[in-house]
Amino acid sequence: MRAVLADLKSDRGFVSKDTVVGGYGSRLDPFSRVTSVICYLKKQFHDVPSVHMAYVAAILARAGHEVIWTRDAGDTPDADVALVLSSLVDHRNETAWADRMRARGVSVGFLGITASKMPELFADHCDFIFNGEPESAAIRLAQTGELPSGMVVSEQINDLDSLPFPRWDLVTEDRGRRFGIKWSSRPVGGGYPLLASRGCPEFCTYCPHRILAGYRARSIPNIVDEIERLSDRVRHPYVIFRDPLFTEQRDRCVELCDQIAARGLSFTFEAETRLDRLDVELLDRLYGAGFRAMSFGVESTDPATLKKSGRRPIPQHHQRTIIDHCRKKGIVTAAFYVLGFLQDDWNSIAATIDYATDLGSTFAQFKILTPYPGTPMFKQIEPLLSETDWEKFDGYTPTFKHPNLTGSELRYLLGAAYKRFYMRPSYLANFLKIQNSAVRDWVSRMDERVNDRHSREEIADVSRPVAC
Ligand code: SF4
Repeated sequence: MRAVLADLKSDRGFVSKDTVVGGYGSRLDPFSRVTSVICYLKKQFHDVPSVHMAYVAAILARAGHEVIWTRDAGDTPDADVALVLSSLVDHRNETAWADRMRARGVSVGFLGITASKMPELFADHCDFIFNGEPESAAIRLAQTGELPSGMVVSEQINDLDSLPFPRWDLVTEDRGRRFGIKWSSRPVGGGYPLLASRGCPEFCTYCPHRILAGYRARSIPNIVDEIERLSDRVRHPYVIFRDPLFTEQRDRCVELCDQIAARGLSFTFEAETRLDRLDVELLDRLYGAGFRAMSFGVESTDPATLKKSGRRPIPQHHQRTIIDHCRKKGIVTAAFYVLGFLQDDWNSIAATIDYATDLGSTFAQFKILTPYPGTPMFKQIEPLLSETDWEKFDGYTPTFKHPNLTGSELRYLLGAAYKRFYMRPSYLANFLKIQNSAVRDWVSRMDERVNDRHSREEIADVSRPVAC
């Protein structure tokens, strides 16, 4: 059987899929000068290949099938079957490609969270949908060679060690040749995603990471075997752990560091986690193993707002301790914030933006609260939905009638958040790792002046009469 795996690129803004927003994906369509620069940088550093497609490639190839791969929506290769990675934010591009493949007589199936939770978007454009994590259905397809039809239940695999390692040689160009830039941990072209665990044991009601399958973890030797195999093929690879909560189990992290050291592996890596699952000693151990960047959710500064969304708040003094330690070690930090929780208003969002600049992470990502199908938050917000185009559920567009803020106010605050975070002298000073106290004092004074200027501009913006 000849199978084409399609992880299609979008031609609008910067789209990331696969493990981003649990697989629903996000699209940054620049809406200001700052977001234009961020969009450009994301295209250089954040365009990483799909780990789920790499698993499916490994499963099909292991059974002796021919695997070809495409990211080009204009490419319609000959094949017996096409498997397409689905997303919410770019589903029209994906279904249009599927239509063209079917017109050529190719059987087309969709996989991923979007096709699983919203099959109605894809059903008229395909022959089958893998409902769930794709591997168990892919194993059946590989073993029988029989093309399925309709909704195909794909049960979660509990023994993740039983899966073959992802085949990057089949679903990506040779990323080992890409070079890194010293001030950024990620090399140009991204790195290699790795799933040491899947799902998340936390209960944040807005999060799609926990709705497709339960939390499971691989054994440490199995993870290190995968890194060793990758290191054999690529010199000093950059690994992107895509677990939603990488440091969930502290003892596992310590064992991982020990086994990396014991095998003498040389690579660097980043991971996403919660700050209350980190301490200074663990950070030091991870740094010794190659840990160079991390992302984490702060979401909001208001503990009551977080609790209403099922998220356990993390004390601010602990957040500051961890970020300060990362800064000293040279670990790049990226904090995530959500604007527009149901309890939010101008003041609470302003407080969150102020906190973001004060916390001083290397990067910050602000998004507008988006209700994703299948989450408890979606059920709560469904009566308030105002957006009917699912591609607009991209993380940057208001999609429901907020009780305290209009859509344009939310969008304005989102732009202000990016401007205030990135357009200030202390951002540059943090980025350049300037520690000299005299320079830092001067930077603080400059920050105040720049802040005043931002405030004046914002007041002028919101007082401007609206054009009819
Ligand atoms: S901690 Fe919360 S937001 Fe983060 S992955 Fe888990 S459920 Fe999602």
